[in-house]
Amino acid sequence: MDTMESFNICPKCLTRWRTKGDFLSDSAVVFIGYQADLGNPELGLLLFTHSVPGCLTTTAVFVHQFLDP
Ligand SMILES: [Zn+2]
Repeated sequence: MDTMESFNICPKCLTRWRTKGDFLSDSAVVFIGYQADLGNPELGLLLFTHSVPGCLTTTAVFVHQFLDP
């Protein structure tokens, strides 16, 4: 059983951020935009670029993940 909690994982380089705080404080994570789900605002996506050499992949986080305590 995997007890390692993770907030988000980069789909390309598989960097794992364990908490929301880890993710937001990582200077390599650059916010690039918001993709709305018009019928369901909490299912909108926040889009980030993982700005490290060799990655530069966009990763998305559901808005509700940020709203959770
Ligand atoms: Zn990455």
